[in-house]
Amino acid sequence: MGEVRPIVRVGDPVLHAPCEPVTRFDDALRALVDDMFASMYAADGVGLAANQIGVPLRVFVYDCPDDDGVRHRGVVVNPALKLPGVGERRLDAGEEGCLSVPGQYAPLPRSDRATVHGSDAEGRPVTVEGTGMLARCLQHETDHLDGHLYIDRLPAKRRKQVLAAYEQSLATGQIPTNNPPGT
Ligand SMILES: [Zn+2]
Repeated sequence: MGEVRPIVRVGDPVLHAPCEPVTRFDDALRALVDDMFASMYAADGVGLAANQIGVPLRVFVYDCPDDDGVRHRGVVVNPALKLPGVGERRLDAGEEGCLSVPGQYAPLPRSDRATVHGSDAEGRPVTVEGTGMLARCLQHETDHLDGHLYIDRLPAKRRKQVLAAYEQSLATGQIPTNNPPGT
């Protein structure tokens, strides 16, 4: 089920532009979703956006634990992210990583709760509510589809450091790993 496709890395234009909404819920979409799950598992990821395998469509998949350690798995097509209001928002200052910037991590405050509305691969409405790592994942994947990486949310100096460390790892031939899990 599904073909493992290479993960696109930071610097590729497909990661830095907004993705197009899905309008056809057909076999091609279902094949894309199968490929996304296969590629996510092959990379040991907990989430993956379609543009991370080079397809500029608003689709992401996830298989990620929440704050209680309960695993959630699914696909969201045309996601819309909803966060608690600023007054009710609690930030989790945990570390974040990304399969498209392999081997690098940085602390990034994110809301500890998030909700995504969208549809599944058949076009049926879905709502995913997440806490903990799942909340972070839902925000991270929606950012991808908007053309943003998590490093774009870091202070400029920290972003530069992460990219320099990544470039260094490529230059020295170190194989970047993703552990803790990336998205
Ligand atoms: Zn990512």
